[in-house]
Amino acid sequence: MPMRHVPKPATCQSASVAETTRQKDLRSYPHLLKFGLRVARAAARYDAQQGNPLVIRPARLTATEKEELLHLYKSPPKKLDYIEDMRAGLAGETCPMCGGQDPVTLDHFLPRATHTEFALLSYNLVPACACNSKRGRVVADAAHGTRILHPYYDACMNQPLFTCDFSPADHAPTFAIRLLLAQDHPQRANVGFHVQNVVLKTSFRTFLGKRWQRLKELPDDMLFGNRPHRDSMAQFKSYLDDLCASKARLEGANAWETVFYRSIAESTIAAWIFDNT
Ligand SMILES: [Zn+2]
Repeated sequence: MPMRHVPKPATCQSASVAETTRQKDLRSYPHLLKFGLRVARAAARYDAQQGNPLVIRPARLTATEKEELLHLYKSPPKKLDYIEDMRAGLAGETCPMCGGQDPVTLDHFLPRATHTEFALLSYNLVPACACNSKRGRVVADAAHGTRILHPYYDACMNQPLFTCDFSPADHAPTFAIRLLLAQDHPQRANVGFHVQNVVLKTSFRTFLGKRWQRLKELPDDMLFGNRPHRDSMAQFKSYLDDLCASKARLEGANAWETVFYRSIAESTIAAWIFDNT
């Protein structure tokens, strides 16, 4: 269920990483032997702190250690096959990080440049779409105590987190994000930060604009089977709510497609569609 909470990988893979550091036929030998001794502890710490960038301090690694870890990630030996398996695992589904489509790259939740010790940690590797390269390295705002959401740890990602307000009469509407979690929900500020620094860095708004355009051109294709539900505005609104719920089940509560249908189910927009299509 996407942008979404997804199950954490079954293992942190630190045993495979430790074995790799002892492999004499690799160029990383013997530079990562010390790292191999503490990799299990680092993984346990990451897990206990849920990958929270506000809490986890980057470890001190030598330049050589960093270089060799990044090289292992780039050209993983057989023992690290899990990296490729994770990369392909969610093809065709919804991106856990942004709610976009087809997550076929791997995103280092804590960036490998700043948190190189977690470059190979399965818990830090999240399948993602092109948002991976667009979001950059901003993962937290220490001054405000906010951070991006972690698809393996933040269960709130399976709830509807935001909708988009716009004026349907505008030729090219501007979509404004409105957060849906209660004002006092502990994750509300993080959701805002995540939307700003991950979702809005993607082509999400262009997607919404195109969907809206398509709905105006082809209402009966975008709103399949809607005509029998037009006896009253209330009936039509309930049809739109059901449609949004169906999208949420199929794609996830915060997939772009779901957010689009949630946005048009808002009363003023639903009324406009009722009157104009
Ligand atoms: Zn994405």
